[in-house]
Amino acid sequence: MRTNSNIHLRLVLQILASQILFHFTFAFTTPTLYTQNAWTTSLHSSIDTIQDTIEERPQRIIVVGGGWAGYSFCESISKNNLEIILLDASKDSKGGLAGGYRSEKNRPVEAGIHGFWREYNNVFDIMEKIEGIDVDTVLGDYIPSVLFSQHGRVALAPVIGNDDDIVTDQDLIKENLQKLAMNPLDVGLLRKTLAALVPPPLDLPILAEFDSKDLFSALPNSERKQLAWIDLVSAIGLLGAWADFNPEERASWERYDTYPAEDLFRKAGITQTLKEELVDPLLHVLPMCPAYDCSAAAALSCFHVFALQSIRGAFDVRWCRGSISELIFDPWQQQLENRGVTFQGGSRVVNIEKTMDDYKYAVTLDGSEPTTLGCDAIVFAVGANSMSKITQFSPLLQSLPATKDFDRLRGITCVAVRLFLKPNDVVYTDSEGRKTQLPMDLAKKMNDSPVAVCGPNIGNIPELKETGFCVYDLQRMQDEFAVKTEESIDDNLAVLEVDFYRADSIVNLSDDEIVSIALQAAASALETSTIDGDLVVDKAIVRARNAVSHFAPNQALYSSGVDLGDNIYICGDWIDRTGHSSWSTEKSVVTARQAAAALSRDLKLAKSECDVIEVAEDTLQLSLLRDAARLLRKTLPPTTLPPSPWILAKQLLSGDKSI
Ligand SMILES: Cc1cc2nc3c(=O)[nH]c(=O)nc-3n(C[C@H](O)[C@H](O)[C@H](O)COP(=O)(O)OP(=O)(O)OC[C@H]3O[C@@H](n4cnc5c(N)ncnc54)[C@H](O)[C@@H]3O)c2cc1C
Repeated sequence: MRTNSNIHLRLVLQILASQILFHFTFAFTTPTLYTQNAWTTSLHSSIDTIQDTIEERPQRIIVVGGGWAGYSFCESISKNNLEIILLDASKDSKGGLAGGYRSEKNRPVEAGIHGFWREYNNVFDIMEKIEGIDVDTVLGDYIPSVLFSQHGRVALAPVIGNDDDIVTDQDLIKENLQKLAMNPLDVGLLRKTLAALVPPPLDLPILAEFDSKDLFSALPNSERKQLAWIDLVSAIGLLGAWADFNPEERASWERYDTYPAEDLFRKAGITQTLKEELVDPLLHVLPMCPAYDCSAAAALSCFHVFALQSIRGAFDVRWCRGSISELIFDPWQQQLENRGVTFQGGSRVVNIEKTMDDYKYAVTLDGSEPTTLGCDAIVFAVGANSMSKITQFSPLLQSLPATKDFDRLRGITCVAVRLFLKPNDVVYTDSEGRKTQLPMDLAKKMNDSPVAVCGPNIGNIPELKETGFCVYDLQRMQDEFAVKTEESIDDNLAVLEVDFYRADSIVNLSDDEIVSIALQAAASALETSTIDGDLVVDKAIVRARNAVSHFAPNQALYSSGVDLGDNIYICGDWIDRTGHSSWSTEKSVVTARQAAAALSRDLKLAKSECDVIEVAEDTLQLSLLRDAARLLRKTLPPTTLPPSPWILAKQLLSGDKSI
């Protein structure tokens, strides 16, 4: 690789050579006029020329990692006069974990389907900055999803943030109350009116449609498998910890991150049924891990961000109408290239060192003949596990105080399975008018939503004991696969996606074995017959080993802020867990903006755009609860996780504080 330092060296030698030639010629031809002064003046002006050349070189920034974090970082700084090079280990994929691939028969595939929650304000904002992208065209509407546990269908999570779903207008509420007085049996209207009267997140359980036959049963927990009202009420036991834990405060993370979420739920006294039916399935698909291997802080923060925060409809999700890589990252890369950003795929960074030439750092790329690239500043926008590996090979990174625990960072393995199936002759139209050619029994079972969210241990399939998954009907979600006209139905394919989270037990199986487990998993969760393997005409299995940040106990505390010092920065969904209260894609964009702000401050860049959209303020009720929790902590600081009143009573009565 030819670096600017080589060019400068050549320039210096050329100038020195011309100087010597000039002075020799001058000395021999006009010896009396030749003075020391003339030599130095001439040399100084040459050095000035070199200096000008060096100063003219734009500063070179290397961005390692081409996912949401890396692209967002480039977006924030690329209007400045800089040389920006984005390096990614992957040869052909744009978008990191949100990237796209091609199936055996060249059909589009992704490393898992990605949802966009209503509170992804920084993600929506950055998407709007991409020329040619209209967020509402690229993303579909918010749609409900259905939750399944090992005991069957649990609930339909409706979309509750759309204005026309719940009326918040006082006059309309009054009008609804009058209508209810006339017709008190209109349960739908009753739910919506009640939900409008309570603050979020209390509207969520009121509006969720639970499938339990035992909802109003008085049977004890051991005699039921499905949710009863008492299980839902037991969730109130988490209120103390929820109010006490401030997701944006380091001290809170320090207190809660060391405990497993299992302890949190035990101390809260939630029922076993609530845990199996609601809590475990959500943990297995959001932070993607079981309660014993998830930190209490991560569980509280995750539930807060995705469901409980103050905004009505925080749990609402929308999905991309096609491959994120093609619909979002392709135009984004074009925009960044137009601003001069260089993208270099197939470039795995293995080390970073200080240099003696005119660049500050030398970045080493993996290869049979390792190459180096100089730069003035570097940002790592890679996952936690990759950062851990890079740090282990880089003494310079190891010497930075903030990285002292990076070698303990862990990743979660995911496996995304996309199956293209022979279409069913009869097209099924769901209650929203969306069409699918999945086998009829599956299509009917997925009528309420093309998204089935499934917890662990479904169907007694040994490989799924600790593995959660989602089943998607992509004909109803992505334009490219949609059933367009009645005439074209024979040309279509039905497209079923099954994404497994914490998939260590299946990642090393063969493609055919994984396909078989995916078909069994979908059938067991949705209680349908298993799709015949002969219907599969094309498939793709994407294995993402240790690629998703794992929030096991202590992991958030091993992370650091965005600025590692000396012009080295980091961003991604595992960075600065104690800051802006966000997760996943949103957190990657937020930390990218924060890292870009730190770099812009250090390099005095005037044209950066790094403003972070802050999270919504707490509702009045939540802030009162938080005030009370703070007061309690000051006066009577708990030494461990706060117990619920009923667990506290149990402790006092039995004298056993370990309960
Ligand atoms: C199956 C699945 C489903 C998911 N679902 C959702 C969802 O519904 N909603 C949501 O918000 N999030 C979801 N996520 C999480 C989401 O994908 C991540 O939070 C987000 O993509 C992180 O983006 P990032 O840019 O920080 O990192 P990444 O996307 O991990 O990008 C890091 C990039 O760095 C590159 N890299 C790594 N090491 C090196 C190296 N040494 N040298 C050069 N390059 C390197 C990688 O190739 C990669 O391209 C899901 C993840 C998976 C796997």
